[in-house]
Order: sequence, then structure tokens, then C-alpha cells
Amino acid sequence: MKTIPYIGVSSCLLGQKVRFDGNHKHQKLITEELAEKFTYVPVCPEMAIGLGVPRAPIHLTGDQHEQRAVNVKDASIDVTQQLVEFGKRKARELDFISGYIFKKNSPSCGLYNVKIYNTPSNVLSSGMGLYARQIIEANPLLPVEEEGRIQDTQLRANYLQRVEVYHRWQRLLNSGLNRKAVIDFHTRHKFMLLAHCEASYRESGRMIARIGGYALSEFAQQYIVLVMEGLKKPATPGKHSNVLEHIAGFFKHQLDTNDKAEMQNIITSYRLGRIPWIVPVTLLKHYLRKFPSTYLYRQYYLSQYHPDI
Ligand code: SF4
Repeated sequence: MKTIPYIGVSSCLLGQKVRFDGNHKHQKLITEELAEKFTYVPVCPEMAIGLGVPRAPIHLTGDQHEQRAVNVKDASIDVTQQLVEFGKRKARELDFISGYIFKKNSPSCGLYNVKIYNTPSNVLSSGMGLYARQIIEANPLLPVEEEGRIQDTQLRANYLQRVEVYHRWQRLLNSGLNRKAVIDFHTRHKFMLLAHCEASYRESGRMIARIGGYALSEFAQQYIVLVMEGLKKPATPGKHSNVLEHIAGFFKHQLDTNDKAEMQNIITSYRLGRIPWIVPVTLLKHYLRKFPSTYLYRQYYLSQYHPDI
């Protein structure tokens, strides 16, 4: 049975008026299109540590190795410890979430390129918000993104896919880790992984072949890192075409010469950017209905979230 993943989200992105100036940063994409896919767990770390609304803004000071979150006008007001402790506690509480969407540029929530000041007005470098860092350090496998980046179709597709896969892995762990379930998980994600990273696909296949030689919990930890890291790599038209040709190969005994040529032309047209990914996939699904294959039916690659890639 499909369950809806829980996703952590910066509260201001949902329209909650929790920003320092009493405003929000509502993102329609998050509250409309993506809301069907997730159950959100909103968190505003600055409100949670008692800063209130309205409040004096904070920013990061220091260097790339160590930062402090301080009041923009009075650096002696320092909330670093509160943010870090809250982040560590929240990371433990949120062990059930399958992803996180953070607000960009925030000294608490930002993931990338958050400004770090070495004087009140001079930006020395950039880093990560202090709260976001605690969440990621506690669970490096958790799929995370910023609200700005998920406006991009490709990045959003990649993020949604990683959340789905990680959610399935969490369900597998919750239902009791066993070798049969891990092998089945691997089998169903093979083509998806191949579309992102052939090296991860091959290495995970080698691991699965030797699964009996591992302690299962040790195996699971190493295996899922390989899968989640592989899925971060972009699935390019060239890699997708490789997978589509693999799948088309399953019908080589059923299709006649003309059908095979048509299939090949459509995959080539997709690779050259003339038609979207969904066109060859729709044709493959048509053949799958005519010539059923349980192995292909169960491939998540054929049912994944698909923008026009
Ligand atoms: S960015 Fe984070 S800390 Fe700032 S208002 Fe939004 S949720 Fe709160």
C-alpha cells in the first residue's frame, strides 16, 4: 500500500508569518502542486528558540570552518547554541521524515550559499544555515532541497524521485529488514539507478550478489548510501536512452523488424531532444501490456515522476 511521505519544510514557505519582519515567503509550488504528494512537517527554528515576531534579523559571522548566528546590529546577541541544540533535538524527533525543503539564504534554514560576514557589512564567504546543518549531519541520506532550486523542473524531478525511493527504504526498514526484501527493493530500482549512475548500478549489483556474506544491518547501511548517492547524479537523455534500449530488448522476440525500427527511431528522437521521455516510455508500456513481463511491470523506472525530460 502506498503511503504519503512526511517532509520537513521551513514554515515561512507554507505562508506562515514567522519571518523576522512578520511576513512569510509563501511558495505556491509547495502548497499546491507538491502538497498532494507529501504531508508537511513545518518547522521555524528561529520561532522555536523563542525569538518571536517581529524580531531583529540575525546573520552568520565567522569563516568557512566555524560560524555563529548573531543579531545583525549587535553581535553580542548570539543564538548559535540555541539553534544548534534545537537542530540536534529536531533531527532526532524527525527521524520519520523522508525529505526536507528549506528556505534559501536563511542563516538558520539555508542549504547553499548563505552569506558569512567577517565584519558587519563584509561578506567573507558562504555556507549553510546552522539549523539545516544539524538536520543534514544527523541524517546525511535525507533528500534535501531549497525552495528556489525545486522551481527547476529537472532538480524537482530528481528530488521527488529521491524522496520516493528513500520513503520506500524507510518502509522496508520499518517492516523488518530481511535479505529477500532488500533484494526485491534492489530489483525494482535497477533501471532507475542505471538512468542516474552506471557505477552505482554496477556496484550495488555486485553487493547484492554477495549479500549472504554480510551482516545484514552493515550491508543495508552501505547499500543505501550507494543508491542514494547514485540517484543524486542527473539522469541525462543519453543515460535514459540506454535504459530505454535495455527495456526495448525485452521485446526483441515479440516485435517484428518494423516495430523494432520504430522503437529505435523514437528512442533516438528522444535522445536528440526532439520528443519528451514520456513518448518512448508510453510505447514501451503499450508493448508491456501486449507482452506482459512481471519483472518490467515492477520496475519503478516506468512509473516514476516524469517532467518533460
Ligand atoms: S527561513 Fe527558517 S527561520 Fe527564517 S522564517 Fe523561515 S522557517 Fe523561520
